Amino acid sequence: MEEKLIAPCGMNCGVCISFLSMKNDLHKQGINNKYCEGCLPRGKNCLHMGDRCQTLMQGLIRFCYGCKEFPCKRLKGLDKRYRTKYHLSMIENLWVIKKHGLDYFLEKEKEKWSCPDCGNTICCHKGLCLNCQIDILHQNRKYRWGDE
Ligand SMILES: [Zn+2]
Repeated sequence: MEEKLIAPCGMNCGVCISFLSMKNDLHKQGINNKYCEGCLPRGKNCLHMGDRCQTLMQGLIRFCYGCKEFPCKRLKGLDKRYRTKYHLSMIENLWVIKKHGLDYFLEKEKEKWSCPDCGNTICCHKGLCLNCQIDILHQNRKYRWGDE
């Protein structure tokens, strides 16, 4: 897990389907997901919020907890969606980073998202390892965390 992959909103781009599809080059395997190198590396401060948040757009803060409106309504909505569907909470991530620092958070994320079988990274949007569990995606592109 890399520091530059932690977006201002607390999202870990390293577990996002668009990042992992690119990293594992899924186009080669016939899965045409969008490729993305991460919100910060691609110069968008935050994919989810940057285009509607002036503070992020102007790069005034590294993380949303530095904002006086934290957690704002938009972040709360996003957080709820991710907590419900994708087994992660941006707001919780941000509290951990604020309290324990980024190194600690990156270490925890590595533990949380490492595939027990191959050591690659599990995708938060699918609940699958996009290295060794591609077969499941071939069978069902809409697969999500074993329940859809
Ligand atoms: Zn794996």
